[in-house]
Amino acid sequence: AIIAVVKESAVGELRVATVPEVVQKLAKAGHEVRVEKTAGTGAYYPDEIYAAAGATIVPGRQELLKGAQVVLCVQPPTVEDAEQFAEGTIVIGFMNPAGNLEAIRKMRDRKVTAFALELVPRITRAQGMDALSSQATAGGYAAVVMGAANCPKFLPMLTTAAGTIRPATVLILGAGVAGLMAIATAKRLGALVEAYDVRRAAGEQVRSLGAKFLELEINAEGQGGYARELTPEEKALEQEMVSAAVAKADIVITTAAIPGRKAPVLITKETVARMRPGAVIVDLAAETGGNCELTQAGKTLIEHGVTIIGPRNLPARVPFHASQMYAKNLQSFLSLVVAKDGSLVKDYSDEILAASLLVHEGEVRHAPTRDLIG
Ligand code: NAD
Repeated sequence: AIIAVVKESAVGELRVATVPEVVQKLAKAGHEVRVEKTAGTGAYYPDEIYAAAGATIVPGRQELLKGAQVVLCVQPPTVEDAEQFAEGTIVIGFMNPAGNLEAIRKMRDRKVTAFALELVPRITRAQGMDALSSQATAGGYAAVVMGAANCPKFLPMLTTAAGTIRPATVLILGAGVAGLMAIATAKRLGALVEAYDVRRAAGEQVRSLGAKFLELEINAEGQGGYARELTPEEKALEQEMVSAAVAKADIVITTAAIPGRKAPVLITKETVARMRPGAVIVDLAAETGGNCELTQAGKTLIEHGVTIIGPRNLPARVPFHASQMYAKNLQSFLSLVVAKDGSLVKDYSDEILAASLLVHEGEVRHAPTRDLIG
């Protein structure tokens, strides 16, 4: 198949949908891979390396898309992007279904086929295609590095001729994929790590990483291994316990999310006022409203001497490896869309394809998105 890789146009997006190593595999399998000029520059994959791996470097978007059968992207296509896709083009990437309705409508009208990686089911067979997880891993790592860089303390314990340094305390709220990576990263930096999640099942994973799990008399495991929303009584109980742990921490990384909902508030402004001066909060939920009441997406604030960071697009802070992992996810997904002989699969009844098919043949196939579009 003819596979096109776009240069991402969103502000601050340094990732790229494929890397030379994957280009080489695709080329070997007989595909023609076209990469838009400088698509990988932000992630430190120069055009020459793609070319050496077998890709054709194409100077402009129009030329790139002409005749392309499959388009790979990281960020959801915009309305302008959608206008450039020819009928029948297969687009694969994050689609932000609920937040990108205008572009989805446009892709529907232009009879584009779009697969949303957010909708890939979290089943064992789909693990290699789970871009939400690979990018959450990058985000969890980047959050701790960012927290450490903004912390006035050492993280590890030190015994030196100039005295003994006590280890810093890092608290992770929400122990899903990003949270577990944050725990592992903070442990490697030598901090004392505590973590909390409403899903009791997370406790075992937290403890196996050598961190302390804060337990509450709630188990809010909801559908499909995700968390459910808490009742008002449960929320009050949670905030009280969380508040005490937050007040003692040097760095707090928050990752709590409920699919399709605004992020739960775990840290109130009163709790921030109880924190130590110099403490740092890195709020991974900044883009969905924040786990800290004071967080502002894309900003760093200092309140009561506490640095509150609300980063946007954290995976793009480790663009080299985030892109590499994403490219592997796409390569794996492509194996469902393109048959061994290079022809495009016509039958999308496979469980993974059916679940992630967002628009196809002039229809929105994902029911919740169709309801939103009306
Ligand atoms: P997510 O990004 O939706 O949420 C992050 C974490 O926040 C979750 O662990 C959630 O329980 C937690 N959370 C929600 N509300 C909270 C609150 N009020 N207080 C504290 N924590 C709160 O989740 P995710 O990282 O995408 O992972 C969710 C689940 O899916 C996990 O159980 C994970 O192991 C599982 N998973 C399975 C697969 C697979 O089987 N292929 C792949 C990835 C993830």
